[in-house]
Order: sequence, then structure tokens, then C-alpha cells
Amino acid sequence: MITIAWDIDCTLNDYILEILKYINYHRGTNFQLNDTTHYNLTKCLPFQEKEIWGYLDNFKLEGKYILLKPNSEILQWLKKYGDNFHHIALTACSVKTASISAQWLFTYLGNWFRGFYFVPSNRDEKHIEYDKNKIEWLKRHKVDIYIEDNEDNYLQAKKLGIECYLIKQPWNNGEPVKEILKKITRRIK
Ligand SMILES: [Mg+2]
Repeated sequence: MITIAWDIDCTLNDYILEILKYINYHRGTNFQLNDTTHYNLTKCLPFQEKEIWGYLDNFKLEGKYILLKPNSEILQWLKKYGDNFHHIALTACSVKTASISAQWLFTYLGNWFRGFYFVPSNRDEKHIEYDKNKIEWLKRHKVDIYIEDNEDNYLQAKKLGIECYLIKQPWNNGEPVKEILKKITRRIK
């Protein structure tokens, strides 16, 4: 069976859109999705790295993340075709919020997903580093299809010979989710 590894944030949900609303609420700003010209918010918003880390983590720790709805097109596709594939999630997040990401995944998509893996994001706390990043993780595991919104990861994973898809977001040259799902559906035998 074909294994699909899905990124979670901004692939399966609209995390960044909600983070922007959260920042706007706390800072009185008016950032829109189109302002996010880079997946790393410190590279496109006027905030220090630690401020962004705080927003990303507190949004989860305050119970807001679990309320995010999964991408509706992907959810519909999973209902129709999901059982033709083996699904796992591969996300980058802080160690202290990993359990919240896992809870989100299995709350909304537990019918289809059987694996949750994370690579710790940079934070102040020290963590064990089994893999430096998702690419190192992908080298050690068997994945047939990999779906991401992070173009750097996408390009590097492609070099490993994995069938990769880049979900369209303002910060990348990806393709619409509808087109990606059509292509994956063709893999069903
Ligand atoms: Mg992502």
C-alpha cells in the first residue's frame, strides 16, 4: 500500500491564517495571508524570532489550535479515497506542543491517519535530535508520497526520489490542492 506523509500546518489546516488573526488581536495589527511571503514568519513579519515562537506555541497551549478545521477538500477526498492509502503525518513543531498537534490530527483525521511524527522546531529548550529536519527523517523512513507547503522541504525531498507535491500558499509556487488530489487519485490501482 502506498504511504502518504502529510505535513500538518498549512497543508492539512489553515494554521498561519489563524496565527495572523491571533497576532492582529494581540498587537492591533492588520496582517493578511498575502503578507506571508515566506513560510518562516520571522522572514516576512516585523517580529523577532522569539516573539513568533511565542505566538505559535501559545496559540496551541491556549486551546485554540484544536479548534482549527481540517482542509475541507482534503477531508472530502479522504472520505472518498482515503482508505486506498496509508497516511502518516510529518510535522515540525516545538516539543511542548507536539501532543497538541497529535491530538488535532487524530481528533479530525484519525479515521485515516495511523502515524504521527514530528521533528522538533527550534526553541530555547534543548531537545534530543534524532533528525535535524524532515529531510533527514524522510531518509530513514519509507514514504511513497510527500505533501508539503514548505518549498525548501519539497525540493529537497524530491531529490530523494520521493513523489512530492507542494500545496499552494502565498509563500510558494505550489499547485492547488484540487490538482494534487487528482494526481494522487490516479495512483489508485
Ligand atoms: Mg506546513
